[in-house]
Amino acid sequence: MIIGLTGGIGSGKTSIANLFHQHFNIDLVDADIVARQVVQPNTLGLNAIVQHFGDSILTDTGELDRRQLRERIFSAPSEKQWINDLLHPLIRTEIKRQLQHVTSPYVILVVPLLVESEWKNFVDRILVVDASEQTQIERTCSRDSTSQTQVRAILASQASRQERLSFADDVINNDADLNPQTQQALLLQVTALHQKYLDISPS
Ligand code: ATP
Repeated sequence: MIIGLTGGIGSGKTSIANLFHQHFNIDLVDADIVARQVVQPNTLGLNAIVQHFGDSILTDTGELDRRQLRERIFSAPSEKQWINDLLHPLIRTEIKRQLQHVTSPYVILVVPLLVESEWKNFVDRILVVDASEQTQIERTCSRDSTSQTQVRAILASQASRQERLSFADDVINNDADLNPQTQQALLLQVTALHQKYLDISPS
């Protein structure tokens, strides 16, 4: 059984997914991690990017210069399309490969833009990590030292909180700031869901 875990930027997807792994040994497949894996040195992905953009798209140590790539596709829709056409199938294939190696009774597939993409039809259930926009902005700004304006722009490009919730089979509320009490409450939410997933997963 595949649980698609999603939420807006800075909602706490990674933190919650890690709780399932740390406490219950549930396997995780994370689309953001896979997106980096498919452009590691000596991959089909990176080789194709170098062929298209030239060696100057690499850092001194031979890795993809992500910032430069972002800048080069930012104002060039056809280049952005080219990159998406290259990487999306590679990411899809790698996610499906990792899912085949799962050994836990169910798996958590973390996809930031799950409800915005076809992944919502691929997973068995959708678990939304929910937090208010204000919380999302504060957490992202303090983690990445980005401006509020930038985070608001990213928020505007994602599904709204209400729209995302409308796809949810299960919801974890992660709005409260962490202290021993809220941490305990969060773990209770995760434990209850874990039990539910064990109960309904095919044996
Ligand atoms: P992104 O979409 O940007 O990758 P995410 O949804 O995976 O983010 P996390 O990386 O888990 O979110 O959390 C964002 C930041 O907020 C991290 O610095 C994390 O430590 C912090 N954080 C997560 N949950 C809480 C919480 N309940 N209270 C305080 N800080 C939190």
